[in-house]
Amino acid sequence: MIAMGLITRPDLLIADEPTTALDVTTQAKILELMRDIQAEFDMAMLYISHNLAAVSELAERITVMYAGTVAERCTLGELFERPLHPYTRKLTESIPRVGRTQDRLPTIEGSVPSLESPPSGCPFASRCPNYIGPVCDGRVPELLGQGGGHEVACHLYDDAVEASPPWEGPHEARY
Ligand code: SF4
Repeated sequence: MIAMGLITRPDLLIADEPTTALDVTTQAKILELMRDIQAEFDMAMLYISHNLAAVSELAERITVMYAGTVAERCTLGELFERPLHPYTRKLTESIPRVGRTQDRLPTIEGSVPSLESPPSGCPFASRCPNYIGPVCDGRVPELLGQGGGHEVACHLYDDAVEASPPWEGPHEARY
């Protein structure tokens, strides 16, 4: 499938979960191959995955999506050093790390909202540990720049909403 996608030498390759269901060794080989091909063909690649570890092998910029909306967009380094959106922080916390001892990996309580009748406010509101009240349920957060090309869609970072960043504020967690 990858060869078929490349046969016309495209300027852009869209790879949607190309390593799903592969064992880790084969996955590593495919990622290495895709990195080499990208450099050789000098093409752009849009890599879609739920696997942050795989994404971190290839991406320069990352867009984190939740329930069909963009939650956060930034460089690879920023995503792991300064994740801003509560969903992104939960995702990065759930990555197993060598040397870190814990009985259970953190998970995100609840489930993704129905897209047939999407919530009227923030799509992550029903699961967000930093939920700050009616503003989260009542208004869809805009994607706002936070410097250095880092953008986030969360009322915690909107100057128009009276809230402090989550690591400073006593926001009530739902879970
Ligand atoms: S807008 Fe509110 S509910 Fe949504 S991620 Fe930010 S704090 Fe959480």
